[in-house]
Amino acid sequence: MKRLAILGSTGSIGQSTLSIVEQFPERYSVATLAAGRNLDEAFAQCVRWRPKVVSMATDELALGLWARLREDHISGIEVVHGSAGTVAVATHSEADFVVSAIVGVAGLEATHAAILAGKPVGLANKECMVAAGEILTAAAREHNVPILPIDSEHNAVHQCLRVGEHREVKAIWLTASGGPFRQTPIEQFAAITPEQALKHPTWVMGRRITIDSATMLNKGLEVIEACRLFDVGPEKVRVTVHPQSTVHSMVEYVDGSILAQISVTDMRLPILYALAFPERPASNLTFDLSKLRHLDFEEPDLKRFPCLRLAFEAAAKGGAHCIALNAADEVAVEAFLERKTSFMGIPRTIEAVLAATPESHPATIAEVLRADEDARETARRLLAR
Ligand code: MG
Repeated sequence: MKRLAILGSTGSIGQSTLSIVEQFPERYSVATLAAGRNLDEAFAQCVRWRPKVVSMATDELALGLWARLREDHISGIEVVHGSAGTVAVATHSEADFVVSAIVGVAGLEATHAAILAGKPVGLANKECMVAAGEILTAAAREHNVPILPIDSEHNAVHQCLRVGEHREVKAIWLTASGGPFRQTPIEQFAAITPEQALKHPTWVMGRRITIDSATMLNKGLEVIEACRLFDVGPEKVRVTVHPQSTVHSMVEYVDGSILAQISVTDMRLPILYALAFPERPASNLTFDLSKLRHLDFEEPDLKRFPCLRLAFEAAAKGGAHCIALNAADEVAVEAFLERKTSFMGIPRTIEAVLAATPESHPATIAEVLRADEDARETARRLLAR
């Protein structure tokens, strides 16, 4: 029995993880939860899963949850809050495996703490790898802790890498759906509204990642994530636009063979893979090959998607530039959703913040968080102009 700590339990990955636990009760159970801001959902999860510890984003929310649990005579659940609470959830002695699915750098400290505590991590939070990948992978090597990617592309790459040696890898091919504006004339980009950008053709996801898919910044973050997870330089990572989102990613080997992973577009599969690795439990997540008509692959248009170009540039510089890329994007996406900047204001803001970021390589999580805050401040200042 694997007992799980789920960071981000009320989000879409967290809920999919719980549905895997529901389907495989003989394999998995819930130890602890970090539930964030959704009080109703946190309460429902406490009733259903009876975690040992549950963490809420703030003191106030923790008090609210505690009161509701008491009202319903539910005891034995410790309610904590804030970043210390998330760390307590991630490092709890009864947790054997940590699912890291808090969006943004908010999950960074707890993910790092889990690795230091020797807990295997299923990583859905790409911002952690982008902002502090060098630190996290070094800690994982030192403590002999596996980091198993839940991001569908990296999960696919992880699967394809199992058949070859690192030195035999010629390129890692990340597939991208191209988002809702793959064929929109470039002149119309300035007028794109949040409503249009929030409609993703193939995946249902959170708001920021949906906008990031529309700008292809998401793919850029995944390029950096791939460099860190699989220990390759950005010159070995390629992006191909594949609108069907059927091939989740590929690995090209030096002999000319390309291995691809194909499956349903359902996050429960990469979650199950990460939880069960190196096993493969039987599931009902089947893919009907007979419904497959054709697969398209095309080169991404960097004029249309400058965010992808900026991400490759940041990947080559590493350190503070990757932190700034992620931080500036998060601030710019928020401004876009609040109609305070345009769709193309997102890459403009990121480019300006990157230009203002001196090259440096933060060595601790505290330094990473400081660089992250600096970049956010710069982005806010630029957007306020
Ligand atoms: Mg992805």
